[in-house]
Amino acid sequence: MRKPLILYSSIWATLLMLGLFAVSSWGAPQRIPGLEHLQGKVIVLDPGHGGGDPGTLGVGPTTEAENVLAIAWELKAMLERYGAQVIMTRQTDASPSLGTQFDGERNGQLAARVATANRSRGQIYISLHNDWHDQSEVQGTSVHYYKSQDLALAEVLQEHLVRQTKAVDLGVRRSNFYVLRNTSIPAALVEIGFLSHPDEARLLATPSYRLEVALGLLAGISAYFAGGF
Ligand SMILES: [Zn+2]
Repeated sequence: MRKPLILYSSIWATLLMLGLFAVSSWGAPQRIPGLEHLQGKVIVLDPGHGGGDPGTLGVGPTTEAENVLAIAWELKAMLERYGAQVIMTRQTDASPSLGTQFDGERNGQLAARVATANRSRGQIYISLHNDWHDQSEVQGTSVHYYKSQDLALAEVLQEHLVRQTKAVDLGVRRSNFYVLRNTSIPAALVEIGFLSHPDEARLLATPSYRLEVALGLLAGISAYFAGGF
């Protein structure tokens, strides 16, 4: 009789933990400080890849392009709830250059993302990606910046993203990425987890983890504007 009892108790412990996780997730937006600073702000969200470019395929059930689009929609809804305006570089699984002057050009889909940011009233630009590493044990989250005006945004996004998701903190890095180099507003590129890591790839396919990521980014963005930028 002992074994079944132990089995049941661990199931109940798991269910309790899942329940607490759900409660803490849903309660979180109210506890994020500084959300009032989002009122009237204009934010450009750039879900990486899309269309013929799925990004990293990884070892999980979903692609990078799918994951980051889902996270962007969650984040857009949250930001708008607090009075911000959100501009998306793509809203569906299509290349941002589709139907634009950049279609068919080399780096056309990147140029289209930058043009959306630079021609908009956007105050910040955030590009969303998942990472890949040849060694499947590598995991964690990093935020990349290039221009000096990007650094404060990158730092605050990394801090809050890691705090909310409990992901391994791979830090803030200076990277010469096209979209960071060519945007005229403060910009950051977020590498959310590794699709080469089995646990992170699986988590990134789940609505609950995507929600956690969006909450972390929401907290980072509100902290950025609360800081007077
Ligand atoms: Zn990517």
